[in-house]
Amino acid sequence: MGKALIIGAGGVASVAIHKCCQNPDVFEEICIASRTVEKCEAIKNKLAGSRTIIHTAQLDADSTDMVIDLIKSFKPDIVMNLALPYQDLTIMDACLATGVDYLDTANYEPPDIAKFEYKWQWAYREKFAQAGVTALLGSGFDPGVTGIFCAYAQKHYFDEIHSIDIVDANAGDHGYPFATNFNPEINIREITANGRYYENGSWVETDPLSMKKVYDLPEIGPKSIYLMYHEELESLALNIKGIKRIRFWMTFSDNYLNHLRVLENVGMTSIEPIDFEGQQIIPLQFLKAVLPDPASLGPRTKGKTNIGCIIQGIKDGKPRTYYVYNVCDHQECYAEVGSQAISYTTGVPAMIGAMLMLKGIWKKPGVFNVEEFDPDPFMEALNKCGLPWQENFSPTLLD
Ligand code: NDP
Repeated sequence: MGKALIIGAGGVASVAIHKCCQNPDVFEEICIASRTVEKCEAIKNKLAGSRTIIHTAQLDADSTDMVIDLIKSFKPDIVMNLALPYQDLTIMDACLATGVDYLDTANYEPPDIAKFEYKWQWAYREKFAQAGVTALLGSGFDPGVTGIFCAYAQKHYFDEIHSIDIVDANAGDHGYPFATNFNPEINIREITANGRYYENGSWVETDPLSMKKVYDLPEIGPKSIYLMYHEELESLALNIKGIKRIRFWMTFSDNYLNHLRVLENVGMTSIEPIDFEGQQIIPLQFLKAVLPDPASLGPRTKGKTNIGCIIQGIKDGKPRTYYVYNVCDHQECYAEVGSQAISYTTGVPAMIGAMLMLKGIWKKPGVFNVEEFDPDPFMEALNKCGLPWQENFSPTLLD
């Protein structure tokens, strides 16, 4: 049915590629293109024997011209951007220039400022609409499935949604004193930023990780969760009608927070360049280089993730609470695709978004966040493709 150019060959891309190869009727041919071509080759070798035809290419996706050249030679129907948020705009420009659909899992961030906003990508709406090209933003788990969960709740269960709490809990243990589950640079930029949530039409800013609760979550038990800003809050605050409050929470162990605090205190999480032996280096990029590669955590990580949305509002004049979530087991993911659950829960929705676009089910010219499409085919695909969800109308975990 289609050809996909997949940019990036890290933890998330590896899972998405494995899942594409499980659906060879949709993904007939793929090209894995990344900065380090050996990583593309390694993924291809693992998938030897797949019905999907796999090509590889070396690519610096910071160069729009290089992406255009590769698109022109491979002629994909879709570009799946599974590299880093820094490449979102160069790849979107290349898609516009060649008329090819675009998908990513994280909003654009300028490398020199840790700002999480859709404004740079939403500025392309008119251009994509006029070019007849679809861009699907944030098709991972959060953002991604969390937005689909909210759209599904809005479509089927509520007349008005008043509050949404997104809870991202990871009870996995990789045995290292300190490691991140996805790209360390992107992860630490996000976690050390100020918290922010939306309430009654405005944004409330909080000190980083200064609001904490304990939730007793299905299958993983009581966990400390901390309020953070997360990019889907921005689009959901616009796209969920009547919303009064939306917040995002993530679990962290005391051990993780202690390490992070020390690293921050000594300046290792800074993105300000410093002079080191006559060379300009960015401390956070140096830290990334010495931390474990998230793609290597698969065999070591044991336990489960639980990511979901607690949604409150009104149906037929009566208050209603709805909790929808997915539980994912790190070792089951590893047995299936050789990756831990964080890469898995991101790579699977990336494949599903691309599959719906290639099938023409999710296709309209312009730039869209996932909750702007019909959630039903995505929810159905989650159950079939390894991320089954559960729902509960009287959850007891609420504060
Ligand atoms: P990794 O660091 O494991 O992989 C990133 C890949 O992108 C690497 O193969 C890297 O190449 C490649 N890359 C980086 N820069 C370039 C460039 N200029 N040109 C070509 N390739 C490049 O990251 P993850 O797989 O953990 O994360 C991938 C993305 O997924 C990130 O944007 C992250 O924010 C997002 N994410 C989204 C989540 C969600 O739920 N929505 C959750 C988790 C992650 P090299 O190896 O040479 O450095």
